[in-house]
Amino acid sequence: MNLPGFPPMPDFPPGEVWLAGAGPGDPRLLTLLALHAVSAADDIVHDALVDARVLGLARADAEIISVGKRGGKPSPLQGEINEILVERAQAGRRVLRLKGGDPFVFGRGWEEAMALSGAGIRFRIIPGVTAGLAATALAGIPATTRDTNHAVVLAAGHRAEEGGYATDWGALARLGQPIILYMPMTQLPEIVVALRDGGLAVTTPAAMIQSATTERERVVESTLGALVADAREQGVGSPAIVVIGANAGLRQQALSHLVGWS
Ligand code: SAH
Repeated sequence: MNLPGFPPMPDFPPGEVWLAGAGPGDPRLLTLLALHAVSAADDIVHDALVDARVLGLARADAEIISVGKRGGKPSPLQGEINEILVERAQAGRRVLRLKGGDPFVFGRGWEEAMALSGAGIRFRIIPGVTAGLAATALAGIPATTRDTNHAVVLAAGHRAEEGGYATDWGALARLGQPIILYMPMTQLPEIVVALRDGGLAVTTPAAMIQSATTERERVVESTLGALVADAREQGVGSPAIVVIGANAGLRQQALSHLVGWS
């Protein structure tokens, strides 16, 4: 797996857990470090959004353990996932925890890292291409441009079940910076109202990007005021990213020469 002129790939010692991001979907967006980890691991504990072709690169004798939501069955509780990681590492396995996107962006990677360190287990973090930035970029929506913004907000759209805080959407609206929403669909109506109450104009450009970088990818352009109706009419479903802000309106200028994803 070592490439000429590149720094050598790190050893994956037995008893270590690597928390890696698999990127937004397309297996080609895996990093070289994540690819190395997949080919070296004894156990791969993965989320539902990780592409089967990535798992296909595992060693023939590797154990593949799905801990994602599948076929209507709820995903295991976080505590159960932590236990799997700890137990396997303690058994001397090289454990790869493979997550969609980046492990530290709305991925509960930190919780798992803390469970591991609490159990005395060494871990490594391998960043991944996060869905919000990949989805917008490939749709022709720049996260930043010098003319429009010098900041961008990544926000979780679901209600925080734990952690005890609620996102202050009014404050985010007043920032006047593009907002990229992860897990946006269930709370979208409430979020739109809160952003409007915070002063964001209904004409603010928006876009919804579903299944970015996969064969099922779809981009729906909209505005803050029309988002909810457009989502319903177009049947936008999970996984999707919603981007709200002036940058979403730049897409039209890119489309004439933007080469599609394939
Ligand atoms: N750690 C991941 C995010 C996990 S939360 C990351 O960094 O990307 C899961 C949410 O990510 C989904 O609800 C959706 O909002 C977003 N997502 C993941 N993959 C996606 C894709 N291919 N297209 C659009 N959104 C995606």
